[in-house]
Amino acid sequence: MSASSLKILLIEDNLAEARLLREVLKQGDFKRFSLVHVKRLREALDRLQEDCFDVILLDLTLPDSQGLESLYPLSRHAPSLPIVVLTNMNDDELAIEAVRQGAQDYLVKRQINVEVLFRSLRYAIERKQVLESLRAVNEALKNRVQERTAELVEAKEVNQLKSEFVSMISHDFRNPLNTILLCAGLLEDNDHLLSKEKKLTHFQLIHSAIQDMARLLDEVLLIGKADSGKLQYQPIPMDLVPFCWQLVEEAQFSAGEKHQLVFTSLGEFREALWDESLLRHILGNLLANAIKYSPQGSTIQFELIGQEKTVVFRIQDGGIGIPPEDQKQLFQPFNRASNVGTIAGTGLGLAIVKKCVEAHGGLISVTSEVGVGTSFTVTLPLMAIVNLNQWSH
Ligand code: ADP
Repeated sequence: MSASSLKILLIEDNLAEARLLREVLKQGDFKRFSLVHVKRLREALDRLQEDCFDVILLDLTLPDSQGLESLYPLSRHAPSLPIVVLTNMNDDELAIEAVRQGAQDYLVKRQINVEVLFRSLRYAIERKQVLESLRAVNEALKNRVQERTAELVEAKEVNQLKSEFVSMISHDFRNPLNTILLCAGLLEDNDHLLSKEKKLTHFQLIHSAIQDMARLLDEVLLIGKADSGKLQYQPIPMDLVPFCWQLVEEAQFSAGEKHQLVFTSLGEFREALWDESLLRHILGNLLANAIKYSPQGSTIQFELIGQEKTVVFRIQDGGIGIPPEDQKQLFQPFNRASNVGTIAGTGLGLAIVKKCVEAHGGLISVTSEVGVGTSFTVTLPLMAIVNLNQWSH
C-alpha cells in the first residue's frame, strides 16, 4: 500500500460517523488520501464500476442492505478489493462472521483511532494481496493440470489410434499378400498341370491383390497427410457438370451391369473454383460405397444441385443401409458398420471424404435406414473465380 495515495470507498449511511472517520484519517500520516463516501450499497456498486479503490470500509447496517448481505455483491463486483467492516460495540459475533465470509478485518466504530485505523487498513490490503497472489498461483496450477491432463488424454488417444492403425494395416495387407503368395505358389508348382484359363485367373487374382494393396497404401498416406494438416487445397476453375458426368461414367464402368447410375443436375452452374483431386476423393469414394453396399440390379442416384452460394452433391442408394448406432462414428478412421457382413473394406474411405470436405470448407451429412438405403449429402461453398487471389497467398 502506498500511504500517500490511498483511495478508500466508505459505505456508511450515518453522516456523523462518516465525518468522524474522515477526521481520523486526516490526523494520520497519510500525506494524500481520497475518501469517496456513499450511503447505500447500490451507490457503492455503481462507484466500483467507474473507479478504482485500494480498500472498502463497510458499515453493516445500510438502508438497502443489512448485515453480511452486503459482502457478497461487493466481493463479486471487486473480487480483489479488501473490505474492512465497521461494527457497533456489541456486534463482535457479526464482525467475526464477516471475516469468515471474506472481509479482511473489522473495526469497532467507537474504538477507532488513527493507529488502529492505519494498521487495519494496511493489514487488510496486504492480506488481500497475499490472498490474490495465492489465488493466481492456484489458478495457474489448475490450468496447467487441466492442460496436462488434456495432453495426456490426447496422447493416449493418438497411441490407441496408432495401434488400431497398425493392427488394421497389417490385417489388410496380409489378405492380399496371402492371395499373391498362394497364386504365385500354385503357378510355380503346377505350371504344366494348369490350363491357360486357370493360369489367367491366378494372374488376375495377383493383379487385383496388388491393386488392393496400392489403394490401401494411398488411403493410409492420404489420412496421414490430412491428420498432419498437409492436405493441400488447390482450387482451379472447373466446370462441374462435365466433371461429374466423367466420374459417373468411370463408376458405371467399374460397376458393370450390376448397378445403374443415374446422374441429374439442377440449377445454374457458374464456373467456379474447385480442388479437382479433393472432389475426386469425395465423390469417387461415395459413389464406390453406394455401389459396394447395394444389391445387384439397384439404381444409384447422383444429384448435383447448383445454388446461389453453395453446390450440393447428393448420392443416394437403395442398399443395406447403416444402423443408427453406427452412424455417429462413421467418419472416424477404421469404423465399419455392424451390418457389412463379408463386404470388403478398410473403414478409411469416409474418414478421407470428411477431411476433403473440410479442406473445401464444406459439410457432409448422412441419412440412412437399414434395408432401405443411404443418402450422403455434401455441401460445398461456391468460390467465384474473382476470389482466386485470396487463396493464392
Ligand atoms: P469401407 O472401406 O469399409 O467401405 P468407408 O470409410 O468408406 O469404409 O465406410 C465406412 C463404413 O460406412 C462402411 O464400412 C459401411 O459400414 C458404411 N457405409 C459407407 N457407405 C455406405 C453405404 N452407401 N451404404 C451402407 N453403408 C455404408
